[in-house]
This record gives sequence, C-alpha cells and structure tokens, in this order.
Amino acid sequence: MEGIQGFERLITSPQTKRVGLAGARVASNGGIQVDFGGKRFVLDPSAPAKADYTFVSHAHIDHMHAPSRQERIIASKETRELAAARGYELGETMEEVEGIELLDSGHILGSRAIRIGDEVYYTGDASGRERAFLGRCKTRNARVLIMETTFGSPEYVFPQTARVVKDANRVIGEAYDRGRPVVLMGYQLGKAQLLSYYFSAWEPFLLQSGVARMNETYSRLGVRLRTGAGFDLAKELDDLPQGPWVMITPMSNGRSRVMSHLRKRYGAVLVAFSGWAVGGGYGRFLGADYAFPLSDHCDYPELMRLVQEVSPEVVYTTHGFAAEFARDLRRVGFSARTIAPYQSSLFDYTKAD
Ligand SMILES: [Zn+2]
Repeated sequence: MEGIQGFERLITSPQTKRVGLAGARVASNGGIQVDFGGKRFVLDPSAPAKADYTFVSHAHIDHMHAPSRQERIIASKETRELAAARGYELGETMEEVEGIELLDSGHILGSRAIRIGDEVYYTGDASGRERAFLGRCKTRNARVLIMETTFGSPEYVFPQTARVVKDANRVIGEAYDRGRPVVLMGYQLGKAQLLSYYFSAWEPFLLQSGVARMNETYSRLGVRLRTGAGFDLAKELDDLPQGPWVMITPMSNGRSRVMSHLRKRYGAVLVAFSGWAVGGGYGRFLGADYAFPLSDHCDYPELMRLVQEVSPEVVYTTHGFAAEFARDLRRVGFSARTIAPYQSSLFDYTKAD
C-alpha cells in the first residue's frame, strides 16, 4: 500500500471481507492489485509497481508499461516478443509461477488471462469466439472474477465472423470491378493480423510498414502471415501501384492527410473493422466508406456467458460499459461492481447493490 497511489482503497465490504478471509484482496490503481497467499500481484499496471509479481496480459499499449528492473513479470513469450517489437522491453518474463495459471484469453496472439489460486480470475482483454488462428477465452471457476467489459451493453451483439468476411469480400470484389483499390483498416496489433489472414488471397496484397512489422513478429512466433517491407505511408504515398490492390493499414481517420490522399490519387475505398461498428454510424464517424463489426473482444452475450462459466461470488468490471454491465449482472443476481480506476468506490460496495 505504501507509496503506491490509490492502493489504499482496499475493499472493506462484507462480501469482499469474506473473500479476504479466504485469502484474496482486490484493489484498483493504474492497474489492479490482488493480495493472495502472502504475495502481491499487480495486473496490467500503467507504471512500475511494487509487487511480488507484475502481470502483463497482452502487448496492447494500454495494458503495458516500461517495467523497472526489480519487477518480476508474468507474461507469455508472445507478449514479450510483441512488446519488444513495439519498443517495450519486458526483460525476463515467466509463465510458470506456483499457485497461478495462465489461460489463453483469445484477444490477440499471446494474450492471457490469469487465475490466482482458485480465488481470482482476471480476463485482461478477452474474446468469446474463435477467429482464424485464435481460440476463444478459456475459463475456470473462481470466487472473484475481474473482467473487461468493453462491449458490456446489450446492443453489442457481433455477427458471425464468416458473415463479416463474406460481406467485406463482396465490397472488395465490387471495387476491383471498378479498378479501385481497397484499404482495410484495423488496429495495428491484433486486428491487422486477422485482416492479413482473412484477405490475403487478393492480389496485389500490400501492407503498411507498421502492420508488416507486426506480421513479421507473428510469423516468427508461428502464425504464418503475408510479410514484406511494407509501405511507409508518411513517405511513400505517391509510390503505390495504380489499379486495384488491397492494403492492410492501422485504423485511421478517413479525413486524415494519408487517407484523403489515397482516396484522391488512387480512388481508394476505405473499409474499417471494429466492434464499435455494430449498429452503424461508426463508419461515418471515422470517415470510412464501410465499417464492419469485427472485434477482438467479447460481445455482450459472450461477456454474460463468461460470467456464467466462471460462476463467481463477486464480479469486478473494468473498461468500457463497466458500470452498466455490473448493474445488469446485479439484476440477474450476481454481486458485481466496477473497478475502473478513479471511478470505483470500493468502500461502499454493498450500498450499490
Ligand atoms: Zn487489448
């Protein structure tokens, strides 16, 4: 607690004291702190943490920090490699620690959930369905579930992935018929590799340089994807071939300098892929011609199923619709509360029920 801002907001409610008696205590700061079995674990902190173990669930920037040399980092080998490719040196990492279990969370390559004893299960970011080379989040029973709830609102129900891929292929085919290239946009780590997998049969197939670098790392870690130097769009914007092609790029606003140029000079069609594309409006917001709901997170029914599978006594929600999802869980009989940093008030846990 000492010297770690926010850590003094420990849980003191009757329910969680009961959990505390069994040996686990949960608190929130820039990361999530779990005290269990005489050890302190800090999960996905945003800054170096004083703990026996620091857990890094996956290599997305909002789940990483530049660790201090004293930290003992629990992370998968893939997370360590992907972090390094993005300039975050995690140093020595470990996957085997007594009393803990790492489980595939299905979010991106190497993403892991962690189970601490049989008390606490923390999902990190998680997906509820198989996609390409990724499995779905694996679950175990635990008394305390700490879960991400990015899409924890009932309107977020994602269509079948095969349906999305089919619809996107139709858009690409129509663009090719008119001689126009297509830019497929998704987050540089994770989504762009799924897009590279699903749409690599189109020729010519181009990659933006940052995506190419991530594809290279995936390939080195055993997921064979199209690779190559890739185009640095900041410098090589006028060097692309004419005629139809498909290019995978990071998510970008359609009104940005690069995307406007691709539109004007090449007649490019812009297609965005994100879970936020459910229900329309997202494509317009982003300035894309099309937006498809393809996500690396659980949709609402998958979040609910995850809770049922873990069958916890207490649920803590974090990210996105954290308060709404906790409220919905309480309505169906679970004890649930958000643990989002700076908005949680863990002292009055029971009052919120
Ligand atoms: Zn993530």
